[in-house]
Amino acid sequence: MEEQARKGLIEKAERTHRLSPEELAALLADAEAEEELAAAADRVRHAFVGDEVHLRGLIEFSSYCRQNCLYCGLRRDNGKAQRYRLSPEEIVALAAKAKAYGYFTAVMQSGEDPWFTAERLAAIVREVKKLGLAVTLSVGERTKEEYRVLREAGADRFLLRIETTDKDIYEALDPGMSHENRFRCLADLKDLGYEVGTGCLIGLPGQTVETLARDILFFQEIDADMVGVGPLVPNEDTPLGGEQPGDMHLTRRVVAATRLLLPEANIPATTAMETLKPNAREWILRSGANVVMPNVTEGEARQKYALYPGKACVADTPEHCRVCMEGRIRALGRTVGQGAGGRRRVL
Ligand code: SAH
Ligand code: SF4
Repeated sequence: MEEQARKGLIEKAERTHRLSPEELAALLADAEAEEELAAAADRVRHAFVGDEVHLRGLIEFSSYCRQNCLYCGLRRDNGKAQRYRLSPEEIVALAAKAKAYGYFTAVMQSGEDPWFTAERLAAIVREVKKLGLAVTLSVGERTKEEYRVLREAGADRFLLRIETTDKDIYEALDPGMSHENRFRCLADLKDLGYEVGTGCLIGLPGQTVETLARDILFFQEIDADMVGVGPLVPNEDTPLGGEQPGDMHLTRRVVAATRLLLPEANIPATTAMETLKPNAREWILRSGANVVMPNVTEGEARQKYALYPGKACVADTPEHCRVCMEGRIRALGRTVGQGAGGRRRVL
């Protein structure tokens, strides 16, 4: 792209938070746009969500999954996956530790594990809420009734990435799952008053800058409260094991463009990014992100929750991660968020 055109587009995005699919795709395709895009995203981040970085304590509570996503180590056909399921008591105990580390949110994530019925999960959510934490669930697709039971138990937020808005790519990579149902879940979650997080994977076979542009416009269209974007980290025990890792520069441009178009969103610097590039969290926190999700899972479970290999910080203790992240955030001249750090509406 011509320099003038590039500058014009970035200025327009920073000022109006709107771009056409063609304009977005042109920026995502342009490696030379990256630094200016990231700088603009950093200004918008500062103006709309401030300098606090919110830490969310991540509890990975079950590695059983009934789905078979081609990229993921927890897929049901992966005979090499090490399966575990924490007990409700263990999950609540980890949430209590998250609170003691000074986190204000517990993110409870798992494969789609039918053992955790809505009623069982709701009982856990009620206990965690008693600790005074905000609760985010990331447990995959459920019926609206199940989402309602969990919401009524006190769950505040829900993470469910659309992964890609390209129906053909989605249905090829997530066999047995329908794109319609994924959209239905996101609509139901919004309707029930959850803060809704979605997002996409970068580096899926067949994906282009045009599909990524549509992903970002979809996040904007559903008014996503949170958007998690991370590179594919190939897992050799999965059918996508032979793929190239997602491009971290393209990932950074997608994060930055997402901040420009969704100025109020909570946007994490993802673990997948840190896995591909040491200190990527800082890099992404300076390119539009304002959230980090340190892992509070302990012991064997911490190793066994292997969506992808080489997961950053897997060998560290949760205590270490807490101290490490605070230091890294301060070194950026930012502060650790004090408070639940939910979506705040400015516009
Ligand atoms: N089962 C739930 C939550 C756990 S998976 C769900 O699917 O929503 C959480 C996220 O991990 C997925 O949304 C996917 O985007 C990401 N993921 C899975 N395998 C991955 C891989 N190999 N590389 C990078 N991210 C991956
Ligand atoms: Fe299961 Fe989620 Fe992995 Fe798909 S991405 S296999 S639903 S854990």
